[in-house]
Amino acid sequence: MSNTIPKIGFVSLGCPKASSDAERILTQLRAEGYSISNSYADADLVVVNTCGFIDSAVEESLDAIGEALAENGRVIVTGCLGAKGDVVRNVHPSVLAVTGPHALEEVMTAVHAHSPKPHDPYTDLVPPQGVRLTPQHYAYLKISEGCNHRCSFCIIPSLRGDLVSRPVGEVMQEAENLVKSGVRELLVISQDTSAYGVDIKYRTGFWNGRPLKTRMTELARALSELDVWVRLHYVYPYPHVDEVIPLMADGLILPYLDVPFQHASPRILKAMKRPASGENNLARIRAWREICPDITLRSTFIVGFPGETDEEFEQLLEFMTDAKIDRAGAFAYSAVDGAAANALANQVPEQLKQERLGRFMALQAQISAERLQQKIGLTMQVLVDSVEEDNVVARSAADAPDIDGVVYLENGAGLIPGDLVDVTILDADEHDLWAGPA
Ligand code: SF4
Repeated sequence: MSNTIPKIGFVSLGCPKASSDAERILTQLRAEGYSISNSYADADLVVVNTCGFIDSAVEESLDAIGEALAENGRVIVTGCLGAKGDVVRNVHPSVLAVTGPHALEEVMTAVHAHSPKPHDPYTDLVPPQGVRLTPQHYAYLKISEGCNHRCSFCIIPSLRGDLVSRPVGEVMQEAENLVKSGVRELLVISQDTSAYGVDIKYRTGFWNGRPLKTRMTELARALSELDVWVRLHYVYPYPHVDEVIPLMADGLILPYLDVPFQHASPRILKAMKRPASGENNLARIRAWREICPDITLRSTFIVGFPGETDEEFEQLLEFMTDAKIDRAGAFAYSAVDGAAANALANQVPEQLKQERLGRFMALQAQISAERLQQKIGLTMQVLVDSVEEDNVVARSAADAPDIDGVVYLENGAGLIPGDLVDVTILDADEHDLWAGPA
């Protein structure tokens, strides 16, 4: 490995906000061991921080980019002008990358791509896709941290704070690295995936020089370009979730939606302070199934929430029957230290909670069994998870790892984990399928 320290040239134009962006980029460059060059000739590449406020500023910025290209040739453009669509690329098509303002991560990603980071004995032991605890062929992709909701049974916001969305360029870069390292399935996770970008007003980020909104639908569509399975978890039933269903119907992302409904009674949902509690979930589900008949719905529910009456519990069972939720987990409500729901009146006795949980799970098993019976005879693609002698275990689009069922394969000789194969479903029980070669 070469010990040469890469030198980055830096040109900054524009207002104080642009300067503060510049400072952040310069600080990060220095922190990562790059040195800053004072001359074009000496630099490995040049970052131009532009301004696009008025026409003369646009001119000045375009001239500065032209000068850097002429003197050095390798230029990354950031700042306000970068946010103005294709202006930069139309005039200077040879720039290496274009990002908008406040785009520290995107600029650093572009710098890393074109002038690799100096060797660091601590972090260079870590592969580009990071250290992962999942098998080689699937990976969780965390898109945000924290949550803006205040569900009364939950203490996550007090532990992790409000929603902070990761820059979309950084998320996409991580996804690309994962796919390059052999990942065949990306599982998008967060506390509230449908809220992605709300905290930064769906800011436009950049991926490979292309503008991309920090928003669930746009992210899902961009991820689909990586040609791997994309599965969405923890999506709340906000109206804009309807936008991702056509992507599923078109085969761009997996027809699988993990929607934690938690209950069906409007009064209980209100007491839980659930996001999107006013939505008519049954009508939404019917509409989703019209657009994408193959969709698998997974959800979680809480039974025995304080004040839950017999009628309200029956309402939940009725919802399960009507909505035909394919996969469901349920918990008997239990008080978590610090949760607001602890103070609610009419806590349900433990024995009754357990009885309700038993009834819920029995109904769920019956629904799941009926749904899986309908798959017998169908041909579908599965992803091989493990191969141990003759035992080959795979998953279909309907099965998220660890929480859903699996597909046991007969005659799986020669398969290895990560293989995608077409199989025909031969048999089913309450949660799992058995399949043979298609
Ligand atoms: S349960 Fe509610 S408050 Fe807790 S993380 Fe989920 S949406 Fe946020």
